[in-house]
Amino acid sequence: MKEDCIFCKIINNEIPSTKVYEDDTLIAFNDINPIAPVHILVVPKVHVENLMELEDNELLVHIVEVIKQIAKEQGIDKEGFRVVTNNGENAGQEVKHLHFHILGGKKLGVN
Ligand code: 5GP
Ligand code: ZN
Repeated sequence: MKEDCIFCKIINNEIPSTKVYEDDTLIAFNDINPIAPVHILVVPKVHVENLMELEDNELLVHIVEVIKQIAKEQGIDKEGFRVVTNNGENAGQEVKHLHFHILGGKKLGVN
């Protein structure tokens, strides 16, 4: 838990969110400002800034498993979806707590 981290606050239920999945190691909730019909953020509970700080490969594998499960539950697994993690300044990472965007439900642009 890092002070002033919005996603740590969501994890601690200090800020409400629409959760679609939760277990001991991660949560997933709807993005507050969706850019696609399905826009879910998958967030590990441990506070690491981005991929460069993550050293737990088991957690990374688990994140990918949960992403696939959510895609199935949301009915976007067959038609396709995008997984994005913005890593650092040039990527425009706004929230400095590692998270993966799941985007789907429409034909996505090249960017
Ligand atoms: P980034 O640019 O860091 O990859 O994306 C951060 C994402 O977090 C953005 O898509 C933004 O809409 C989302 N976001 C920021 N604050 C909140 C919040 O308080 N609740 C939820 N559900 N999403 C948030
Ligand atoms: Zn955090």
